[in-house]
Amino acid sequence: MIDLKNVSRIYQIGSGKVFALNKATLHIDEGEFVSIIGPSGSGKSTLMNIIGCLDTADSGTYLLDDIPIEAYTETELAKIRNRKIGFVFQSFNLIHKLTAEENVELPLIYQGIGKAERKSRVAEALERVDLTKRSRHLPSELSGGQQQRVAIARAIVTRPSLILGDEPTGNLDSKTTEEIMDIFHELHAHGNTIVLITHDQEIAEQASRIVHIRDGKLSEVSV
Ligand code: ADP
Ligand code: ADP
Repeated sequence: MIDLKNVSRIYQIGSGKVFALNKATLHIDEGEFVSIIGPSGSGKSTLMNIIGCLDTADSGTYLLDDIPIEAYTETELAKIRNRKIGFVFQSFNLIHKLTAEENVELPLIYQGIGKAERKSRVAEALERVDLTKRSRHLPSELSGGQQQRVAIARAIVTRPSLILGDEPTGNLDSKTTEEIMDIFHELHAHGNTIVLITHDQEIAEQASRIVHIRDGKLSEVSV
């Protein structure tokens, strides 16, 4: 489903160039659970942004479900993101004035789905992350782990095939990290493709495949 070939992303800094990604080639099949690990500044966010269609390559090709991403306009890409990809970030990125269920409902409103179906899908997504009892709470009334579960519910409510996590446990203690990783494992067992970006070896090892990134270059050690 993800097919990157020789993808480079170059930033001009003063008179010099930084290869945030340097001829990255990566193939990920539907249903895989892959982690991408590398130190700070290695290009993880850049790679995540390209896989997630938030940014485009300066050279190389990216096929998502066999379709070249460069062929799409910005508006079309926004639709693809909304339909195919669920994003989970380190800092949760919830809207503070909205309750848990209202946050989870947002991507469905964007899709133009009617109220009755929205309600049942929001309830189902919150159930899957075991947060039904907190559905009327504001993010400020929830713990970090609970906020991340709301964010995961928001990511899965559109039934995306791909779930992209950018350091999703980076702000959480080790017990909460385990709970959140359990949810990713359940989603994987359910058939979702999971790509997790991390700098934490223990997290990375929970995936069935580990891709290393360093200075914008990818490498893989088969296990
Ligand atoms: P990571 O997520 O692993 O910390 P990034 O993808 O954020 O790495 O960054 C990779 C490299 O590209 C770093 O050297 C970073 O400073 C540089 N970089 C990233 N985004 C920009 C940008 N918008 N402008 C200039 N340089 C950038
Ligand atoms: P993360 O915590 O995910 O690694 P970073 O701190 O590397 O994120 O980057 C956060 C944002 O800042 C990203 O969107 C990245 O593109 C941008 N960025 C990173 N490095 C630079 C840089 N040297 N100059 C400008 N923007 C940057």
